[in-house]
Amino acid sequence: MYQIIGTWKMSLDGIREAAELLRDGGSAGDAAEHAIIRVEDNPAYSSVGYGGLPDRDGHVVTDCGFMDGNSLRAGAAMSVENVANPIRLARKLCGRETNWLLAGRGAEQAAVTFGLPMKDMRTEACMRKWQAERAKIPEKLTAYTGHDTVCVLALDQAGRMVAGTSTSGLFLKDPGRVGDSPVIGSGFYCDARFGAAAATGLGEDIMRGCLSYEIVSLMRRGASPTEACGEALRFLSSRKLELGEDAGSISVIALNPRGETGAATTLEIFPFAAGGPQGAGLQAVGKDAPQPRPVTEAEMSEQP
Ligand code: ASP
Repeated sequence: MYQIIGTWKMSLDGIREAAELLRDGGSAGDAAEHAIIRVEDNPAYSSVGYGGLPDRDGHVVTDCGFMDGNSLRAGAAMSVENVANPIRLARKLCGRETNWLLAGRGAEQAAVTFGLPMKDMRTEACMRKWQAERAKIPEKLTAYTGHDTVCVLALDQAGRMVAGTSTSGLFLKDPGRVGDSPVIGSGFYCDARFGAAAATGLGEDIMRGCLSYEIVSLMRRGASPTEACGEALRFLSSRKLELGEDAGSISVIALNPRGETGAATTLEIFPFAAGGPQGAGLQAVGKDAPQPRPVTEAEMSEQP
């Protein structure tokens, strides 16, 4: 068995190729890294990697995480500039006993020590948008509609399982702001015995529910990936509603060791890409439509 799942339509091309790697006996780590790099390198995706939208001061600042579910080791980096492929940094840090969660300058120095390529992550397009919008910083920052953090969960034929995330965070975020994506248990979690999960959406809300760990815990107690995603998101949403807040914008994905996938969202539609022995394609769930279904051609063209 092998299987891979990634958030948003932007992950589809990488997920397709990564599924082929897995089919040919490649490792879950290589497959997840490949799928995420495809998004990081594409400047058309303005919420991840090269061409990501800047913070309030005009810096493209990235966060990333990686977890190996067989060793329960993780690596992550936050507030990182100029690292061409943040996911490679997170994966390199994964395996260390200490110093596996690094921030800012230290994370950048580690990338140099690992020999990872560095580059200016700003593009003309992202700086133009920053110039145009920085004067009217909204009071309440929101996640982008339809293409936010790239999260990938992969299971290979040898039973290895990983989770990875990469994001440039919220457009016009405060300098130093960090979301859920590099935070183990919130943005990602993976235990190869029970499953993997990852989240995208407003990091401040995702962290309040430690959502990825919660989803894996529910799978440990017998829930399917779809049930676990739904239950974890319903619980956090209901607690927020009790507190007079709305459900916010959060989407989650999960994968179990049998290769079953699941997702849940507070949005009308949340597309995700999945690839396995049955082929690869785009599926979607909605807040009132919890069962994953294929995405129609019309919906496909509407998704960024
Ligand atoms: N979760 C990310 C963050 O809060 C952004 C997103 O996925 O939309 O930084």
